[in-house]
Order: sequence, then structure tokens, then C-alpha cells
Amino acid sequence: MKCPNCQKEMKHVIAESYHYLESGLDNVILRGIDVFQCPCGEEVVSIPSIDELHTLIGLRLVKKDSLLNGKEIRFLRKNIGVSAQKLAKQMGMDNATISRWENDKQRITKSHDLHLRLIYCNMKRIPPEEINHLIQEEFPKVQEAYKEIPPYVIPQTEWSKDKGHTCTS
Ligand SMILES: [Zn+2]
Repeated sequence: MKCPNCQKEMKHVIAESYHYLESGLDNVILRGIDVFQCPCGEEVVSIPSIDELHTLIGLRLVKKDSLLNGKEIRFLRKNIGVSAQKLAKQMGMDNATISRWENDKQRITKSHDLHLRLIYCNMKRIPPEEINHLIQEEFPKVQEAYKEIPPYVIPQTEWSKDKGHTCTS
């Protein structure tokens, strides 16, 4: 791959650990991602099958055993492609509340949190038996508290079968 900045050939490395801040979340680490680096400082990161990756992250969040934080709420909402206004209508809330949740200015209640998870699963067409399992087994374990969860480390093989690493050197 040529550097978009200086047109030199870039060096291809496979990142052992890539902090995926572009997700909008603080604690997602990707493993095995293709990174192209140029001596000029330019770096291009190539993440395949973003949709599959985001679904994987979303499904992890709906199983979180404590309340969703603002960034997680925003991630789930964006992943199902609904505006804050639309989500507010679907949840019987006002826009301002959704915005306060997402900006960590107000904590979501457990009831609203679980409602949001169900809307997410519905929009994602999660099979009914999996939703049933969530309701029966996972939701009762959710604590009404914010908790730091450990970094979510995801090897590329978990969401993408694309092993087409094209080494350019
Ligand atoms: Zn360059």
C-alpha cells in the first residue's frame, strides 16, 4: 500500500493489540489487525467486516452484568442506526434524557437499560431463543450499578474469516 501522504511504499505489520477507539468505546482491543506504517508518520489501519465486528461488540454489551454507560448506550443506538429522537419515542422517553444518558450526565435505570437491550436485540434480529435466554438467565444477573469491565480483547478471527493479509513489502 502506498502512503496517502507521501506516496512511499508503507510497511505492513500485524498489530498484536490495537486500541479500537474509533468504536466510541474505551475498552475494545483488537488483535491481528493489519496496520500500514510510513516513516513520515502516516498510519493506515485496515479493519475488515466492520458490521460483523460491531455486532459482536453489541452482543457482548447486551450481556453486560452491570448498567450500560453513556458510550455503550450510544454504541448500541448507532449500531442499530436509530437517531436519539427515534429511540426516545420507542422507549417512551424524551430526547433530552437519551442525550443525558449518552453523555453520562444521568444514569440509566435498570429497567430502561434492559428495555434498550431488548430493542437492540430486536433490531438485530437476534433469534427468539437467544432473546429468551437473555431475559431468563442474563438479565436477572444485571446489577443496578456502573462497573468497570475489563478490556474486551477480540482476535480478528472471531469476526472475520478474511485472512487475506497482503504483505506489500
Ligand atoms: Zn508517508
